[in-house]
Amino acid sequence: MFALSTSPIDARALQDAMRRPEAGAFVCFEGWVRNTNEGRTVTLLEYEAFEAVACSEGSHILHEARERFGLLDARCAHRVGALAIGDMAVWVGVVSGHRGEAFAACRYIIDEVKKRVPIWKKEHYSDGDSGWVNCECHCGAEVHVHAEPVTEAQLYARQVCLPEVSQEGQDRLRRGRVLIVGAGGLGCPAALYLAAAGVGEIGICDSDTVDASNLHRQILFGIQDIGAPKAERAVDRIKSMYPFTIFTPYPERLTDKNAMEMFCKHDIILDCTDNFEVKFLINDAAVLSKKSAVFASIYQWEGQVQVYQPGTETPCLRCQWPDMPEPDCVRTCAEAGVLGAVPGVFGAMQALEALKLLLGRPALPGLLLFDLLSGQPHRAGLKRSASCPVCGTNPTIRSVDPANYGDGLDVEVEGAGEGNGTFDGFEVIDIREPQEIRERPLAGLKSTAIPASRFEQDSLPLSTDGRYLLCCAHGARSKYLARRLRARGYPHVFSLKGGAEALV
Ligand SMILES: [Zn+2]
Repeated sequence: MFALSTSPIDARALQDAMRRPEAGAFVCFEGWVRNTNEGRTVTLLEYEAFEAVACSEGSHILHEARERFGLLDARCAHRVGALAIGDMAVWVGVVSGHRGEAFAACRYIIDEVKKRVPIWKKEHYSDGDSGWVNCECHCGAEVHVHAEPVTEAQLYARQVCLPEVSQEGQDRLRRGRVLIVGAGGLGCPAALYLAAAGVGEIGICDSDTVDASNLHRQILFGIQDIGAPKAERAVDRIKSMYPFTIFTPYPERLTDKNAMEMFCKHDIILDCTDNFEVKFLINDAAVLSKKSAVFASIYQWEGQVQVYQPGTETPCLRCQWPDMPEPDCVRTCAEAGVLGAVPGVFGAMQALEALKLLLGRPALPGLLLFDLLSGQPHRAGLKRSASCPVCGTNPTIRSVDPANYGDGLDVEVEGAGEGNGTFDGFEVIDIREPQEIRERPLAGLKSTAIPASRFEQDSLPLSTDGRYLLCCAHGARSKYLARRLRARGYPHVFSLKGGAEALV
């Protein structure tokens, strides 16, 4: 519990509220207003806080301390407004099983609060003078930085004067909540520009850790971050720069399990990933949760940006590609190479498109492609497709089924390799060409032969509630086809892992 209060802190009541039978230690810190600072006589203090961010950051710190030190409870109260000499300005209390972690946690909390929570102190001196004092902690040594508290009006003065922004638009940005999926070459610059513009809440989702080969394009990280989790390190770095934004790290992979819940907490989703499975998951979850999404992809010197906005004519990814392309049909940065400024340009464009959406401007129509080596832009006039399997008039994708993103499609061979196996409850369909089947029949397995090409036709030899197990030579074609059939409205189609090879 982190609280700001204009009235005196009741330390006794706070302490009593933390009593519990399993507690072996209680440590508290009280910060009092003293009468001198740097040789000058202080007569009065004023504290001013940016309340929403202070409370959110303060709560984060208490949560971190509880996790890190295994505390039973941790609380902090901070005064704001005018304080007299001797008044208690801040109170920190921790309760734990043993004294060691209680001492350490109390110290940790007070140091982090001083460093991270946006609270400014104005000292009034006996000579009538006054000054703002921000106490920051650097490497354990207290340094006093004299600085006026920065106001939002000062920070955003140069963008508020744009007629398309104005104070009303700035207020919209402050209420905006953007989720960035992927803290890489696109996500880092996007996060910086969104935070710098004053977007109120930014979530950063990435399960990866920083690698030395990332640093030339992932500009939120430095050499000291190698090996650290990207989402958390990105948030640590960026929140020290922009205290007016609330940042939430999600150090996990975006999956069918967490996507909808994460999307519901945000207004706009930025796809800053480099793999098809996550892009299509973002696409489907955005359409299903009625959130706008800004997609970007890069390949060597080229990149593209596309915006999906629900309720408009902007297309989603599946309007153009109803079926997800095979995951390995495009090479990634690791294989193809990239100059860091290229994702920098496209990440900044994603931030720009998100800011425009938050400001209520129309979404970028179609697809914008840009070859940055030749400087040649190209606009592709994509339109929403009525037959799109997710945003069309009769959608077949109604939930984020893991099978649509390559997971949960494979059926393993168990005991069927003896030549007499059956897959209970499945109708097995051999999708290989007749020549292949002649060369290697499915030994002892009852199956129907329907070549893959037959599934390209409009009418399919399947029923929507049937359970089918597709089989090919090695399990690749069957997996691709199973995913496509799922997207076309056949939810119980699976792929035999390893194909005919696995049965031998
Ligand atoms: Zn669509």
